[in-house]
Amino acid sequence: MRRRPSDRAYRRGLADACFPPAARAALLVRIASGEHISDVCADLGITVNRARSYGRHAPAWARALDLALRAGRDADLVHGSAMAYRFGRCRCPDCRAVKAAARH
Ligand SMILES: [Zn+2]
Repeated sequence: MRRRPSDRAYRRGLADACFPPAARAALLVRIASGEHISDVCADLGITVNRARSYGRHAPAWARALDLALRAGRDADLVHGSAMAYRFGRCRCPDCRAVKAAARH
């Protein structure tokens, strides 16, 4: 069953209320400057899961978040490896892809 547009708008509104534009902007800037996504989210009073799931309603946000994660990632780690994900706590798109593949 397809979701009605009004229903989608309502959900989008809820997501905006939980994660306002000012918080989204602050999150991107701080991640891009090298702060860890977990630390920034804790500081802003949201969960990492909420920050990510917002991208389901807003694909542009998901892309911006991935760009910020790449920009701010630790240059000393080998990205796209389980080591960087597990021990480096890296959550850039490359490291997350390895983690996702390892689940299967
Ligand atoms: Zn990484």
